[in-house]
Amino acid sequence: MSTDRLTDVSEAGKKVISSISDIKLYIDGAFVDAESKEQFDNISPYTNEKINSVASGDKADVDKAVKAARKAFKGEWGSLKLKDRLAYIYKIADLIDEHIEEIAPLESYDTGLPISQTRKMVARAANNFRFYAEMVSARLVGEVYQVDDEFLNYTVQSPVGIAGLITPWNAPFMLETWKIAPALATGNTVVLKPAEWSPLTANRLAEIIDKAGLPDGVFNVVHGYGETAGASLVANPDVELISFTGETTTGSEIMKNGADSLKRFSMELGGKSPIIVFEDADLDRALDAATWGIFSFNGERCTANSRLYLHESIADSFIEKLKDRVENIVVGDPMKNETQVGPLIHRNHFENVKSYLEIAREEGCEVVSGHIPEELSRGNYVAPTMLLNADNKMRVVQEEIFGPVIAVMTFKDEEEVIEKANDVRYGLAGYVWTNDIKRGHRVAQAVESGMLWVNAQNVRDLRTPFGGSKHSGIGREGGHYAFEFYTETKIIHVAIGDHHIPQFGKK
Ligand code: NAD
Repeated sequence: MSTDRLTDVSEAGKKVISSISDIKLYIDGAFVDAESKEQFDNISPYTNEKINSVASGDKADVDKAVKAARKAFKGEWGSLKLKDRLAYIYKIADLIDEHIEEIAPLESYDTGLPISQTRKMVARAANNFRFYAEMVSARLVGEVYQVDDEFLNYTVQSPVGIAGLITPWNAPFMLETWKIAPALATGNTVVLKPAEWSPLTANRLAEIIDKAGLPDGVFNVVHGYGETAGASLVANPDVELISFTGETTTGSEIMKNGADSLKRFSMELGGKSPIIVFEDADLDRALDAATWGIFSFNGERCTANSRLYLHESIADSFIEKLKDRVENIVVGDPMKNETQVGPLIHRNHFENVKSYLEIAREEGCEVVSGHIPEELSRGNYVAPTMLLNADNKMRVVQEEIFGPVIAVMTFKDEEEVIEKANDVRYGLAGYVWTNDIKRGHRVAQAVESGMLWVNAQNVRDLRTPFGGSKHSGIGREGGHYAFEFYTETKIIHVAIGDHHIPQFGKK
C-alpha cells in the first residue's frame, strides 16, 4: 500500500493501517479462529485488492459465543452493582475517544467512507456509550401505582438476557455501538455479527472492549456471512432478542427464521426518504441540506433524502444550483481530508447502483452525473448523480438505491406532494423546507415516516426516538425508547389492605 494515501492520517492511524493483520472471532474474552478454520477475504473499496483475511464463523462459533454470553449473564456480569457495570461503559467511551485517530482511518480504509465523516462517526460512537451510561442511571426507573388503600403496584426493569446484534456496513462502527451501548448498559450480554464487508472496526471494538476489562463472555464478536453466522444467531434458542439493521428483505427473512424461538425483534430497515422544498423556503439552506443529505456517507445512508420534490415555481433554478453542486463535489480517496464522496463499499454493491442508472435511462430520466478523476478507476466509484424528469411510478423512485443518486421531481401544491411523498413502501425519514410555520407542521405530520425534520438536515439528539414506519422498521431505539426493547418490564402487585377475595367452596 502506498503511504501517499495516508498523508492526512495521524501517526497512530498510519501505524494501525500498516499493521492490519488477519482477524479472528472474539469469544469468551479471547481472539480465536473459527472452529472450521474457514476465512473470507476482506476487499478494499478503493483498489479492489485484498486487505486481509477474516475468520468465517458459523453455527459452531455462534453457539460457543452464545454459551459464553449465557454464562456471563448468569455469573459475574449479572450480579454487578449498577455503578460498577456503568463504570465499564464509561471506560469503553473513553477508550474510543482516545483512539479516534486510529479507528476513523481504519473505517475509511475498509468502507470507502470519507475520513472527515468517519472521524465524526467515531466520536458519535463514544458518545453512544457515554450517553447510555447516563441514561441508565437517570431514566431506567420504574413506576408506582397506588390503588386506593388496597394495593401498591410497582414496575421493575431487568435485562432480557443475550442480545444478538446484526449490523450493516454503511456506518459500521457507529451503528454497532448504537446497539451495543444500550444492550450492555441495561445489563444484557452481547453477541455481535458485524457486516462481512466491513470487519476492521468491529475487530478494533473487540480489542477496545477487551482492554476495558469486561468479564469474559459479556461481549462477543462472530464475523461471518449473514446466511451462516447471522442466521445461526437468529435461530439460536438461547438468544432472547435480535436487534437488526439492514435491508428490508433481510429483516423479513430474519423475522421468519426467529419465529420458532419467539424472538423479540427491533428492526431498522431500508428507506427512500423524501425532501420537500416549498417555494417560500430558505432555498440556499435547503440546497445545502438536500446535497449533504444524499451525498454524505457516499449516499449509503439509510435516512438519505433520495427523493427530492421541488415546488414547480422554484424547480428550474434549484435544479441548476444542484447541478452545479453535483459537478463540483470532491470525489476522491476516502483517506484524504478534502474528499466528500468516496468509493462504494463493494463491487457487487457498485454494480447494483450502476444498474439503477441504466434503469433510470430506460425509464426516461435524464441522468446528470459529476466527475470521477481518472486515477480512481480501480475503485468502486459512482459519481454524484441526479435523475431528472423522474416520476413516482418509476423503479428508481420506488426502490432504495443506496448510493449517491437523487431522483428529482416537481409538485404543484401541498396535497399533491404529500400524496407523492407517501406513495412508497418505506417510511424512515422525511425533510420539509418551508417558512410557513403552519404548513411545516402540517406536512411533517402528514408524511408517513418515523422521523421528520423541518428546515433541518438530519441532526439527531441522542435522547430522541429513532426508527421507521411502514417497511422501514419495527420499534424504536434511541433515548429511553431503547429500554422497552433491551429490558423486561415486570409489574409487582402488593396488597396493602384486605381486598376482596372470592371464597369459592367455603360453607
Ligand atoms: P443487509 O441486510 O444485506 O445485511 C445486514 C446484516 O445482516 C449483515 O451483517 C449481514 O451479514 C446480515 N444478514 C444477511 N442475511 C442474513 C440472514 N439471513 N440472517 C441473519 N443475518 C443476515 O444490509 P446491508 O447491505 O449490510 O446494509 C444496507 C441496508 O441497511 C440498507 O437497506 C439501509 O437502508 C439499511 N440501513 C438501515 C438503517 C436504519 O436505521 N433504518 C441504518 C443503516 C442501514
